[in-house]
Amino acid sequence: MERIHSLYLHVPFCTWVCKYCDFNAYAVLEGLIPPYVEALSHEIDIAGTELPIGPLETVFIGGGTPSLLTAAQVRQVMERVRAIGLAPGAEVTLEANPSNITGPNVEGWLAAGVNRLSIGVQSLQPDALRFLERLHSGMDAIAAIRTARAGGFANVNADLLFGVPGVNLAAWLDTLEAVLAEGVQHLSAYELTVESATRLGQEVRTGLVRMPDADDQLEQYWAAAARLEAAGLAHYEISNWAQPGYTCRHNLAAWNYESYLGCGAGAHSMFRLDDGSTERRWNLKGPHAYIKQASETGRALDGAETLSPERARGEAAMIGVRLLDGTGSARDFPEERRRLVGAGLLLEDNHLVRLTRRGVELANQVGAAFLVEVASPQQRKG
Ligand code: SF4
Repeated sequence: MERIHSLYLHVPFCTWVCKYCDFNAYAVLEGLIPPYVEALSHEIDIAGTELPIGPLETVFIGGGTPSLLTAAQVRQVMERVRAIGLAPGAEVTLEANPSNITGPNVEGWLAAGVNRLSIGVQSLQPDALRFLERLHSGMDAIAAIRTARAGGFANVNADLLFGVPGVNLAAWLDTLEAVLAEGVQHLSAYELTVESATRLGQEVRTGLVRMPDADDQLEQYWAAAARLEAAGLAHYEISNWAQPGYTCRHNLAAWNYESYLGCGAGAHSMFRLDDGSTERRWNLKGPHAYIKQASETGRALDGAETLSPERARGEAAMIGVRLLDGTGSARDFPEERRRLVGAGLLLEDNHLVRLTRRGVELANQVGAAFLVEVASPQQRKG
C-alpha cells in the first residue's frame, strides 16, 4: 500500500442543518461532542498502529462544524495526530463557522497547531443568508475574517456560494468584492446545487423555490473567475482560487489521486495499492453508532470496495482533469482524449491535458468519459 500523507477528520455536528446541506451533519447533538472526540482520538491511535501512515503533510478537520469543538478538544485531537507524525510545515486546516471565530478560539486553534482556517462565509447578502438558513450575518462573516487574520492566521480561505435564488450578478459580485477586500489568501466558490434529499430539494420539487437558470449561474461563475484572477488569485481548480503559494495542499493531494485516511463519522478513505488498484473505505455515518464502535474497537468501518487498476486509472483521470493547469492522469486514455479534444472540451499540451472553457462548464461529463467501459467496483460491507 502507498504510504499515506493526508488525513481527513470529520466532525458531524452543526448548530442547525442548513436547508441545502447534503453533508453528514446533525443538529442538536452537541452533547455528543465530548464522547465523539474520545472516539475520534481512539480511531486515530489505532489507524496509526495499523496503516503505513505519516509523516502527515496535510490534515483537514472538516464537517459539519469543527469550530464547535473547544480549543482544548482540537488540541487533544492534534496531539493524537502528532503521535502519528506531522511533517515540518504540514498544512493543518480547520473549517470554521463565522459565529465561532472569536479571539480566544483563534488563539487556541493556533496553539493546537492549526495553521489554515477555512471560513464558511457563503454570502454577505442578508436575503441570501436567510434563504440558506445560515445563522450568521454578513457583518459577522467579515468580522470573523478580520479576527482570524488579526489573531495570527496567515492562510485563510473563504467559502462562497453563487447561484442563490434572489441574488443577481451585481449582488454576487458585491459579496465577492467585499470578501476580497479582506485579503483572504484562498477562495472557494461553489454553485448552489440542489440535492434531492435536502429541504431545498423538496422546495424545488414542489415549486416553492425556483433556481436560477444555468446561463445565469454560468454568468456569475465566469464573472467571479475574471474578478478573482484580476485580483491575483490563480484559478487552479474548477471551484478554487489562490494567491501564489496558497493552494490547498490537502485537496490537491486528493485531486492528484494520492492516498488519504479519513477518520470520524461517515469519513471516506482512499488507499492506492501496490498492484495499481485502489481501495476505498467508509465509516459508519451516524454519530451514535460511530461513537459506540470507535470507542470500543478504534474502528468504525461501514463498507469498502476495491477498484481494479483500470478503474482506478479512470478515476484518477476523472478527478485529475479538475486541475486547470493540466494533468497527466489521462495519459492511459488516448481514445477518450482524442474524442474530448475533438469536441472542444480538452486541450492537449505536451503530455498534459486541460479543460477548455466549455470543458470547465461540462467538467462532470468530461470526467465521466474516463470511467466508461470500465467494470464496476467490488463492494463489501465492513
Ligand atoms: S453549517 Fe455546513 S455542514 Fe452544517 S448544516 Fe450548514 S452547510 Fe451543512
